[in-house]
Amino acid sequence: MFQKSKKLISAAVLEKHQDLFRCPLCKKTMQVVYLQSLVCSNHHCFDISKQGYVNLLSRGMRTKYDKKTFEYRRLISKNGLFNPLYGAVSQIIMNNHLSNEPIRVLDAGCGEGSHLNNIHTEINRTKPMDLMAVGIDISKEGISSAAAENPSAIWCVTDIANCPFQSQKFEFILNILSPANYSEFQRLLSDHGLVIKVVPNQDYLKELREILYMGSEKQNYSNSLTINHFKKQFNLIDVESIQYQVNLNTQLIKPLLGMTPLSWGTSEERIEKVLQLNLKQVTMDFKVLIGSVKS
Ligand SMILES: [Zn+2]
Repeated sequence: MFQKSKKLISAAVLEKHQDLFRCPLCKKTMQVVYLQSLVCSNHHCFDISKQGYVNLLSRGMRTKYDKKTFEYRRLISKNGLFNPLYGAVSQIIMNNHLSNEPIRVLDAGCGEGSHLNNIHTEINRTKPMDLMAVGIDISKEGISSAAAENPSAIWCVTDIANCPFQSQKFEFILNILSPANYSEFQRLLSDHGLVIKVVPNQDYLKELREILYMGSEKQNYSNSLTINHFKKQFNLIDVESIQYQVNLNTQLIKPLLGMTPLSWGTSEERIEKVLQLNLKQVTMDFKVLIGSVKS
């Protein structure tokens, strides 16, 4: 019963915003049929899952992020480690949306949805607006978890290289610590739309990085290539640096290691070493790139 009502809430949200969708297979318009499926005019049919998301991938894709990764990230998020970042991104959206028009915000690569949900909550708390939040990710585990948490947003499993949306439908595209597809972002943004991309800065989790990558080239992280690439694709309107320390409960070290690709490819021995350190604080360090479509 519980799951059925979640599905119906999501189906109603999808129906209200069905003009947003474009069939990923044939690019025709789509509509919600019987609150069960999203169907294009060529009859390609994608069912609404019982958790309320739609899987628009024509075949399954494996990713390195598994269920555990998302549970860890949600836990880190719930413990407030990203709060100043959420505050900054919310502020950028509020500062750049001055009318009362409804807006759509797409989080491309949203995983389990914590970033998008928290940013939306923060905006509602500060300056409520008519905002439709849409999260997409290639991971079914991530999207399934996101939909279970918040049925009032739209959640889709999709390849970000082939987004199932009509062109120019989004006022903001968020791309937070996740790979991008700039040609799709350019297509999806409205005329005055903005991309808000968050990348790690050089001191991001440096306390962990120092031990995990000691003596390897990964120890020094540089985002200059990413920033240069972004500048070629968009008009770079602003860059914000956000750095802060967070207090770390020992129980959060394992989730912190597990939620990022940081620990992939490092030895168990080094991971063990980090766990034994009893770190009390860790550095969060981000750059937020704000770009508009080049005319
Ligand atoms: Zn189709």
